[in-house]
Amino acid sequence: MKLTRLLFSTAAAALVSVAAYAQGTVGIAMPTQSSSRWISDGNSMVEQFEAAGYKTILQYAEDDIPNQLAQIENMITNGVDILVIAAIDGTTLSNALENASFADIRVIAYDRLIRDSEYVDYYATFDNFKVGVQQATSLVDGLKERYGDGPYNVELFGGSPDDNNAYFFYDGAMSVLQPLIDAGKVNIVSGQMGMETVGTLRWDGAVAQARMDNLLSAHYTDAQVQGVLSPYDGLSIGIISSLKGVGYGSGDLKMPIVTGQDAELRSIKSMLAGEQYSTVFKDTRELARVTVGMADALLAGSEPEINDTKTYNNGVKIVPSYLLEPVSVDMSNWEDVILGSGYYTRDQVQ
Ligand code: BGC
Repeated sequence: MKLTRLLFSTAAAALVSVAAYAQGTVGIAMPTQSSSRWISDGNSMVEQFEAAGYKTILQYAEDDIPNQLAQIENMITNGVDILVIAAIDGTTLSNALENASFADIRVIAYDRLIRDSEYVDYYATFDNFKVGVQQATSLVDGLKERYGDGPYNVELFGGSPDDNNAYFFYDGAMSVLQPLIDAGKVNIVSGQMGMETVGTLRWDGAVAQARMDNLLSAHYTDAQVQGVLSPYDGLSIGIISSLKGVGYGSGDLKMPIVTGQDAELRSIKSMLAGEQYSTVFKDTRELARVTVGMADALLAGSEPEINDTKTYNNGVKIVPSYLLEPVSVDMSNWEDVILGSGYYTRDQVQ
């Protein structure tokens, strides 16, 4: 009896594992674990791909370009059926993608566009221009709320110049800020503008902190900075440390309005502590869902669902894309959006 049951359950387990891996193997190349959003992305994808019957290989390259290239080449050699890639540097993958194409492996660019290659099949991301619009809108709302009518003293930070998204965030933000700058309502006291000047290589918070230190000592010995456009929570945390270092957030020196992106746990906590003003929530579970849907369709030989065929020119072609909606989050809606969606629990945040 026992033996029969054992044999039966072993056979059932074998069946389950064959069924579980019947769909093929997905190679998932992620940029870094230094930011919690990419950990959420990786986990959500593994969970959802495996639930859909795929095997997964998930690798992080810790922001090292040769490392990511080697990981992708290995995935190709190991015979993955499809690649999902969030590139560190969107311009360095052309050879790897050519090899993927020789091996008949389709490629989905995940959140970050891969540039200069015809072998990017689809792109799953958020409306990146809108992210920038939301950041600047929140900055302006916060400035009015904290400092009245202005004009306001503001500094600008951009994302990594090798990440296509950084330009969309910056351009989206400037579509709101430039008219206010032209009208004299917003003063960029340092005069530093444009992605080539305000970009932050590899989205590195320490680099942003050092730049903020320099801005403060060179331009704010008399004036007070009132707002900082920050495109990513990891930069916001560095910028806020720099501001606190010279006394902002205590006594007469109000903490400037500092924006962000990704709703990282540290930044939600910083918001609750009255430091970071806002962030942009991009639900990584939804991005994983869209990506699994795209992979499923591609491997079944059908057309993935897309909602944008115009925006993302990668230098060689327009990559058909699915854009999700970002959500601006501040103290007025964080409970609804962040707790309400189950992204974090109250315990995690407090
Ligand atoms: C992503 C952002 C993220 C940034 C830094 C961008 O490509 O779209 O969500 O904040 O990379 O990791």
